[in-house]
Amino acid sequence: MRPVTNQMKMTIAGYSKNEALARMCVSAFAAQLDPTVEEINDIKAAVSEAVTNCIVHGYRDTIGDIDIKLRVIGDDTLYIKISDKGVGIADVRQAMQPMFTTSPDGERAGLGFAVMESFTDTLKVRSKPGKGTAVTMTKTLHRRG
Ligand code: ATP
Ligand code: MG
Repeated sequence: MRPVTNQMKMTIAGYSKNEALARMCVSAFAAQLDPTVEEINDIKAAVSEAVTNCIVHGYRDTIGDIDIKLRVIGDDTLYIKISDKGVGIADVRQAMQPMFTTSPDGERAGLGFAVMESFTDTLKVRSKPGKGTAVTMTKTLHRRG
């Protein structure tokens, strides 16, 4: 196991206006790894999908806390864990299938997990109905130059 060389934790209230805040904080933390613009955009997109899911699916019509844990592992890998204490997911495998959505009337594309998967190196989803959902992603950054 490679050592954790830096870390931070934050908790935000699940208002949609805080999604942009979460994205900015994660990219500010990631800046120490000297990422490319493309890498930063990938990280922002993945964080945006995970936080949006907590807000719209986890907490639905309520407002709850979203915990974000960030770590640097070794000198090149970003670890991101985003969790809620909302409704949870009964069948995680099914939820992660591209184009699967529980959202009615084609309101959503069902592509959030596919985005997280394609823009990071590893993606793990743990969830319990009634308890909440935790999404863990890692991405190894390749220093510029
Ligand atoms: P899109 O992300 O394209 O707007 P979506 O949110 O439905 O659509 P995904 O992000 O891939 O698609 O999520 C798939 C499904 O997994 C959701 O429709 C929802 O049922 C469930 N889900 C995802 N995240 C959570 C969460 N944090 N809490 C509860 N259910 C979730
Ligand atoms: Mg989504």
